[in-house]
Amino acid sequence: MNDPFTANSPLNAPSGTPRDSGHASLFATALSQFERGADLVDLPDDLRSILSQPKNEIIVNFPVKMDDGRYRVFRGYRIQHSNLLGPYKGGVRFHPMVDLDEVKALASWMTWKSALCEVPFGGAKGGISFDPTALTTGELERVVRRFTHALGSNIGPDHDIPAPDLGSNAQSMVWMMDTYANSTGAAERQNVKRIVTGKTLETGGSPGREKATGQGVVFCLQHWADEVGFDLAGATVSIQGFGNVGSATGRILQVHGAKVVAVADHAGAITDEDGIDAFELTDWVREHGSVAGFPGAMWIDPDDYWAVPADVLVPAALENQVTMDNVAQIQAKVVVEAANGPTTPDAERALAQRGTEILPDILVNAGGVVVSYFEWLQNRSAQRWDLDDVDHKLRDTLWRACDAVVDIREELEVASRRDAAYAVALRRLRVVYEQRGIFP
Ligand code: NAD
Repeated sequence: MNDPFTANSPLNAPSGTPRDSGHASLFATALSQFERGADLVDLPDDLRSILSQPKNEIIVNFPVKMDDGRYRVFRGYRIQHSNLLGPYKGGVRFHPMVDLDEVKALASWMTWKSALCEVPFGGAKGGISFDPTALTTGELERVVRRFTHALGSNIGPDHDIPAPDLGSNAQSMVWMMDTYANSTGAAERQNVKRIVTGKTLETGGSPGREKATGQGVVFCLQHWADEVGFDLAGATVSIQGFGNVGSATGRILQVHGAKVVAVADHAGAITDEDGIDAFELTDWVREHGSVAGFPGAMWIDPDDYWAVPADVLVPAALENQVTMDNVAQIQAKVVVEAANGPTTPDAERALAQRGTEILPDILVNAGGVVVSYFEWLQNRSAQRWDLDDVDHKLRDTLWRACDAVVDIREELEVASRRDAAYAVALRRLRVVYEQRGIFP
């Protein structure tokens, strides 16, 4: 007979081992990027050691009653990489491939993003290894609430602030907030809304947060286009992943006159050289769960997706998607990393060798954390900003970060925009370490 606490358990693999994806560990990739940036700014050895590991690694195993009455044990993670610049901050990912290695990489990227954009937060990331689409709404709610409870005081509105990421959404954040609020005293209950960001508008979310990451992707792309003299209006775009980030990016680019000519997601890929309507596709995916069957485009074999000609390629799904297996087929002038870690290091070298630009994840997808900061500020002061205000502040913040990357490329004579973005972030962290010192 099955042990009710391990039946259907996803806990077959030991934690902390890199997933068997055929690629090197994601944290190893993150570390190699960090080392390149650290070399550029001569980061002292002691700071390299400190920043090359997370401060805290929290793993929780918790049981949840499923609809059939049995219990399933889930494994959740919260990795707190750095709180030098402010409270730990980062999303919570729900996906079967979530593991310690992945969450460590994602947490470190949050530290660099906040530093690069001068957001007073540190870096963290969390996740649960399971497939949220395979659960009923009731089961999902119990998983989210039980995870929040298991994290306990490891998160807090001025300590560590989760947000949505792949597989989670505004509803997940509302459940997290409500669980946390109900675990605090009555006097604190209204004061803890900012325990999470990315909530629904009605429960304290910010205007513009849902589209913020996609909006930020477009702001960064516009900045690059102005710099190099690329015309976005009329440009063709290919998007991998049409969830929160990919769909918002597609809709906003379409409004700016670009044409989405190919889209891929977990279910397959579609193309139309005359343009796929990103608004209609968004509605379709919301209703049907994927791009499959969308009547306004042609269905293609997912293996052929990368070869569809497009000026701009936006990976907005998972890590390790642009690889040596498909890099030769990619014809884009620029790869815009809306997802975290979508390009493997060897594919990055291949793209650089042939002059394809890469706009790096820690810059390009930072719109989410920037507007999360705005949401946190609004909750703290019981205010509601309007959408224009949020968008303008987001644009100014990201363009300042883009300017800093352009300037440091020139100053340090560095070609890679990723290396330059790391250099900006690490230089800022070094200054703060130098002024604060290392306790005790
Ligand atoms: P989401 O869950 O809303 O959407 C994910 C999309 O990826 C879906 O369209 C899904 O079908 C697709 N996908 C999943 N597996 C795939 C596969 N094997 N091949 C092709 N497509 C696949 O997630 P999201 O919030 O849009 O996040 C997407 C990426 O952006 C992630 O890397 C995430 O870390 C990053 N990101 C998200 C935010 C945010 O605010 N949500 C902020 C910064 C970075």
